[in-house]
Amino acid sequence: MPRGVVPRQAARNGRQDKVGVGTGTSARLPGAKSRAPGRGEASAAALKGRPKTAKKNAPAPKIKSYNPVAPERVVEILRRLDQLYPDVTCALTHASAWELVVATILSAQSTDVNVNRVTPELFRKYPTVAAFAALTPEQLEPDVRSTGFFRNKSKSVIGAAKKIVAEFGGEVPEEMEKLLTLPGVARKTANVVLGTWFKMAEGVVVDTHVHRISRRLELTTQDDPQKIEQDLMRIIPREKWILFSHQIIWHGRKLCIARKPKCAECLLENVCHAGDKTWSTVEMHKHAKA
Ligand code: SF4
Repeated sequence: MPRGVVPRQAARNGRQDKVGVGTGTSARLPGAKSRAPGRGEASAAALKGRPKTAKKNAPAPKIKSYNPVAPERVVEILRRLDQLYPDVTCALTHASAWELVVATILSAQSTDVNVNRVTPELFRKYPTVAAFAALTPEQLEPDVRSTGFFRNKSKSVIGAAKKIVAEFGGEVPEEMEKLLTLPGVARKTANVVLGTWFKMAEGVVVDTHVHRISRRLELTTQDDPQKIEQDLMRIIPREKWILFSHQIIWHGRKLCIARKPKCAECLLENVCHAGDKTWSTVEMHKHAKA
């Protein structure tokens, strides 16, 4: 290591107020707050410039307020996501719109890896929508048991298959309103199918990862998935809606994990002010929690 270069180290409490030479992580976006001096602290510049006659309780100068959804901040986040995950797509194995509907229903409260273990055999056994529509939920339950909540999921899959056969000619509809009439299909599943299979940006997929990370990155303060989606649709350009969801889902699996995010390895670190970061070079905001 060259002389004078100090490797950066995380503070014990997860904060890192000073940045080591050469870390390259001290840049801040315009509008981001700098750390306010602690009690009893004052910057040398402030002391130097203070007139001797200044009143003790003079009001602090106004600092330009920090806007976490300022267009330049959002653009920067999107740019870094493109750098991290340039080519990502849905991780659920599927070969048709119907298979993606089934896989997405099964993925609720489960992992994609778990679902991908189950679906190849499932789709071999029941290769068409009609084959699923001919089953009772009880007949399907053993095949999807390992994905959890298997009774409800069986009912949803069979109900969706029956409706697609009876009302949509056996084809998964390409319209949001029609998709939302299928049992077990809410906006998340509909957005996955429309975006991934039909390449139609009708909304932003809000799953558990998008929910958590959008809040950590202060792109929303909402807790309700539909309101989060509305916030994201307002600030993210439409042509990015599909890719953004995939990128955030991958980020949630690889780095920004729920319990212990790997902030020291994260390219978004110095634009992220999440209150539960495990390492930080910038001020963290208590309200920006997962
Ligand atoms: S810095 Fe940490 S909390 Fe913020 S996005 Fe990266 S991994 Fe997540």
